[in-house]
Amino acid sequence: YCKMVYLDNAATTFVSPAAARAAVEAMTELCGNPSSTHAPGRAAKAALEKARGQVASALCCSAEEVIFTSCGTEADNWAIAAGVQAGRRLGHHVVTTAVEHDAVLRPLQQLTTRGYEVTFVAPGRDGAVTAQDVLAAVRPDTALVTVMLVNNETGAVNPVSEISRGLRAAGHGALLHTDAVQGFLKLPFTPAKLGVDLLSVSGHKIHGPKGSGALYVRKGLHLQPFLQGGGQERGLRSGTEAVPALCAFGAAAEEGAACMKESRARISELRHAAEELLAGKVPQAQVLVSGGADDILSLSLPGYRSEVLLNCLDADGICVSRSSACRKGRRSHVLEAMGVPADVIDGAIRVSFSRYNTMEDVSAFVDSLAAAALRLRHR
Ligand code: PLP
Repeated sequence: YCKMVYLDNAATTFVSPAAARAAVEAMTELCGNPSSTHAPGRAAKAALEKARGQVASALCCSAEEVIFTSCGTEADNWAIAAGVQAGRRLGHHVVTTAVEHDAVLRPLQQLTTRGYEVTFVAPGRDGAVTAQDVLAAVRPDTALVTVMLVNNETGAVNPVSEISRGLRAAGHGALLHTDAVQGFLKLPFTPAKLGVDLLSVSGHKIHGPKGSGALYVRKGLHLQPFLQGGGQERGLRSGTEAVPALCAFGAAAEEGAACMKESRARISELRHAAEELLAGKVPQAQVLVSGGADDILSLSLPGYRSEVLLNCLDADGICVSRSSACRKGRRSHVLEAMGVPADVIDGAIRVSFSRYNTMEDVSAFVDSLAAAALRLRHR
């Protein structure tokens, strides 16, 4: 990978050396089952609880509010299933946005086959919904409101705390969930300040391993279990815990929280440099969303095909993505919901930075895109 320029950090990130060391240490030194009462079991349990404490302290919540899951998708699926169950006395209506990740949209679509009604609030041209629109969609029978914090395709940031304040001011008892997978350690927030009941995060977006995640469950909220069995994770998510992956997730969270301020400053510089270079060298490039999270840069070359641009960049060792890494072959529902014209959507690419990227990465990307645009225009 020495010549690769990796600018697809919203799809996944490199595992940091500290996180990898934590996983190796757990795999080689912790043979016990955390539920066993003998010494190796107790050691594994202590490592798991250390990881929980690390994730909790990165989220500024208490350790008992962090339930480990196998990924962000699981946290989202569970939050929705258990959220509507917990709010069932209110009714069978859910409010969400038209720009959620499939990990939220699909379970909601499934709920509609079971008699639930779902309102999808449309974003503005800036990619974000307004608190007013979300609150206007809430009804007396709304059991759950689920609004993502940062959009994975555009970086647009939704006003989750304003939505929470509005709900509470109206005395509405609907539960509030946010998918914070793309916001965790990218933006400063805490579940308490956001005022949410449930919040999903994922390990592999923060330089931890794939296959690790967590659901924040506000203290005092009783959820139905996601998996039943041996009673792990306070009886909410049975199954022997993935100790190595979770230790690595904990280490990545601790590291990410410790360097968040510098990372944000660095990523902001990289983004602004990218926008300036693009304006000079690829003038046909349009930045689709500004003012959101700096690590996600959504841009388009109208009249070009994003998959062709991606292939050209890939041939130069530069990794970016079409829109979301998970929606192969389909036009982005996010950009469509924003009212972006079809030719702009078809030429859209997503560049996403991490703290490991450099100015050289940014220049290599812009030079490669400029060369591709020129070559393709002359075909
Ligand atoms: N939610 C958002 C906003 C995401 O971007 C992703 C992953 O791309 C997920 C949920 C799913 O997370 P995971 O890959 O850990 O299942």
